[in-house]
Amino acid sequence: MRASRGEEHISGAEGLFTDKEVERAVRDYLKRADTHPRGRADGIHLSIEKLRSTPREITGLAVSTVKCDSPRRAHTIAATLLGEAGVSDIAVRAALKVVRAAKTMRGAAVISATRGRRIEPDQRRGVRTSRIGVDKRTRSVLARALARQGINNLTVKEALALASKALALRTVVAEFCVSDDPDYTTGYVATRQYGYVRIPNIKAKGTARGGRVYFLKDGASLTGAVNYLESKPALITSTSEIRRVMDLDELLGRVNS
Ligand code: AMP
Repeated sequence: MRASRGEEHISGAEGLFTDKEVERAVRDYLKRADTHPRGRADGIHLSIEKLRSTPREITGLAVSTVKCDSPRRAHTIAATLLGEAGVSDIAVRAALKVVRAAKTMRGAAVISATRGRRIEPDQRRGVRTSRIGVDKRTRSVLARALARQGINNLTVKEALALASKALALRTVVAEFCVSDDPDYTTGYVATRQYGYVRIPNIKAKGTARGGRVYFLKDGASLTGAVNYLESKPALITSTSEIRRVMDLDELLGRVNS
């Protein structure tokens, strides 16, 4: 689903559904398009396609939330996690520029992890990850585990699904996201080492700026990565640990020890 007002992107969402689930999913997407905090859409595009290949089965990333009380601290945390994954300082700076830009994109920017270059083919649109779903059994296991930490909401589940698909590709080093929803101020960094790490207060409430960045290994195939993210179906069929809120140091120590 893609909702826009004039040239402006309002919201978008995607999923994998069984035949029986499609009608309900369409209704839910329409409702979301019409009630987004970024305002009312004047154009809604829905497309439904039958999968032509069997989805690749993947494991959901571990979920953590680190304590953070300001955008400044959030940026330090994000830079630390990205640095641990091998993302250079220049690439981190390039990513901050993307998520602070006045104009939001429909998809994500792709930045080379070492050289820090923007390399996605269409820089206005970005790369839109699609064809990702969670099987029914895993959906309920995940919902229960997330509920225990008080984060069983659609935003977390969709972000976790997108990040799990992206990081399942070895050439994607990390992902960084700041929501463009003015009411949602929790961003995240996803890496294979630490999983999907939520960072509260990454931006001030009321800001409609945000964005997403994939850091690609320098020299890796961009076409291959874009094709995988946009077109290859993936299904989450197992989950990892869903952790409680903790300090960044605790998270770093836990995974390193
Ligand atoms: P959201 O977390 O939905 O507020 O999205 C934040 C930003 O991430 C958007 O402004 C887009 O640039 C980007 N984005 C949203 N959905 C996707 C997606 N499926 N694939 C890649 N980038 C996305």
